[in-house]
Amino acid sequence: MVNTRKILVTSALPYANGDIHLGHIMEVVQTDIWVRFQKLQGHDCVYVCADDAHGTSIMLSAEERGVSPQKLIDDVKEQHERDFTGFLINFDNFYTTHSRENREFSESIYLALEKNGHISKRTIKQLYDPEKKLFLADRYVVGSCPKCQADNQYGDNCEVCGSTYSPSELINPQSVISGATPIEKESEHFFFRVPMFSDMLKKWTRSGTLQNSVSNKVNEWLDDELQEWDISRDKPYFGFEIPNTQGKYFYVWLDAPIGYMASFKNFCDRTDYCFDDYWNEKSTNEVHHFIGKDIINFHTLFWPAMLSSANYRKPSAVHAHGFLTVNGTKMSKSRGTFINASTYLKHLDAEYLRYYLASKLSSGVDDLDLNLEDFVQKVNSDLVGKLANIASRCSGFIYKNFKGKLAESLDAPEIIEQIQSKRHEIAELYEKLNYSKAVRLIMASADLANKYINEKQPWIIAKENPLSKELQAVCSTGINAFRLLIIYIKPVLPALAKKAELFLQVNPLTWEDLDSSLTNHKIAKFNTMVNRVESAKVNIMVDETKHASESKQKVQKESKESEGNFEPEISVDDFLKIDLRVAQIISASEIQDADKLLKLVLDLGKDERGVQIQRTVFSGIKSAYKPEEMIGMLTVVVANLRPRKMKFGVSEGMILAAGPGGKDIWLIEPHSGASPGMRVT
Ligand SMILES: [Zn+2]
Repeated sequence: MVNTRKILVTSALPYANGDIHLGHIMEVVQTDIWVRFQKLQGHDCVYVCADDAHGTSIMLSAEERGVSPQKLIDDVKEQHERDFTGFLINFDNFYTTHSRENREFSESIYLALEKNGHISKRTIKQLYDPEKKLFLADRYVVGSCPKCQADNQYGDNCEVCGSTYSPSELINPQSVISGATPIEKESEHFFFRVPMFSDMLKKWTRSGTLQNSVSNKVNEWLDDELQEWDISRDKPYFGFEIPNTQGKYFYVWLDAPIGYMASFKNFCDRTDYCFDDYWNEKSTNEVHHFIGKDIINFHTLFWPAMLSSANYRKPSAVHAHGFLTVNGTKMSKSRGTFINASTYLKHLDAEYLRYYLASKLSSGVDDLDLNLEDFVQKVNSDLVGKLANIASRCSGFIYKNFKGKLAESLDAPEIIEQIQSKRHEIAELYEKLNYSKAVRLIMASADLANKYINEKQPWIIAKENPLSKELQAVCSTGINAFRLLIIYIKPVLPALAKKAELFLQVNPLTWEDLDSSLTNHKIAKFNTMVNRVESAKVNIMVDETKHASESKQKVQKESKESEGNFEPEISVDDFLKIDLRVAQIISASEIQDADKLLKLVLDLGKDERGVQIQRTVFSGIKSAYKPEEMIGMLTVVVANLRPRKMKFGVSEGMILAAGPGGKDIWLIEPHSGASPGMRVT
């Protein structure tokens, strides 16, 4: 093999506070296919990853479950590894960021940054939970929007009117963790002076390390002024304490990418690989990061700047991908499409999804849709109907009529040459992450082989002359076509390839084997290599996902009693000013770009003249209700609320609901018998 490349590859680190779902699987499958392709080509490719094990939410989760953070992250890591193994993800090392190696690298990189004058320190004001004794990140504060007074908005921006603000501007802010009213508190924070790297980043991001669209986006950020990056967090925090400080910790995003290095170091320490060969400033080996498009800034600004200051090499490439949607929309627990890896594996074969994802992955950052009907159809038609079918139609005759022996010369070497001639194009497509096009070419070759077999009709030849040389040569051509297709698809379907190698009685196939043919060679009996996907199993998987989320909501509902904090007293007259009416929901729909709101059209009965009264309201209940299940429901609406102009239209009222928010919102519903328009008193 000429020019063996030495490549280190990483996938983004999954957070150690939740299950692996199909979105994670898409990323590791994309990476794993690329790594397997490189290895198949004979390159020296190492694939490492780790759990991202630090931060406030891991600390809080552990507390909630009554275990130590260490216990939590150990358990989660075990489950993550099991899920990845189930999907045939071939990590050379899967580690954790809460490791000795990562602490050492984080400290030494930080100290280098500090020594080089790239760290600044200043005191900032932040909201602080006085009950929990904890500084509150934006997402841990809710309150009313200072601009439009919409309730239940997070600390950084309002979903209703779209304005941005700082959490301290919220009206009646509340800590999501304890419910306490946060106070403002000062603390000294440490900042990484990213703007000092602006020139280097402008050069590096345009040097072919990023996809064009990503490079353009990043350069927009670079053209605006870069901000210094806050890299410290105050105790209590689960992470690494910053050297020479007390109670200051590295922000989880500082040590997460360093976790790539730490995982690789851990791998080097038990193999012959040399860490410096890959991370030394002068290294010419390749380092590739695969990430989702939501974390581009961390990997293309902060990370290369940190590496540069600390005298390490910068990545050769950062490959970003889009998000996974299911059936055309964002994965949703209530729809049963927020599917966990373990739930999938309970019902379906990992390679079905690997194949489907490969057939749709491109080199861009567009979202990829897993359409479950298309999934069943495509897997059955391509893997069963096209690929495996070639072998199953030819192998029987070879096995029975010719004692498993392939012919000495093939009937149609030109078919074989045609398939072989695609090798450079297919290799280039894998290399550039254009898997969907590679798969299309491979399946076109499968069509070619099937067409050939259909024309030759070996089953007719067998009837006339079961031992003819022609029959043997035709079937041998089919088997050889199958062998080439298996080499092509091997990065995507490693388990199927292994079964095929057993059937063909050959050593593990490599890209070089595309040059040769199998003649005068004994093969084994053909066993079914891939079964059809049953739609019923897909449905069971979706139902199970749906029920798991429903029963979780129920448990939360039962465990949360109505909590204290009552409003000051008002008079009956005050109360009667509020015109509460029974309303029926006649339509409910999602609003594009609004994560929390649903648009509801309400029937409020008829006015004196018998004319139907309808109201449109926008309600922040999307996290708990799906539109289709709301239609026909009765609820209570504040009918005389001044109409409010929102980003998405005018809201003509407000429906009543209880609960702290998120999944825990319950619409107020009158007993049956009440009818639209009735006044609530
Ligand atoms: Zn607002």
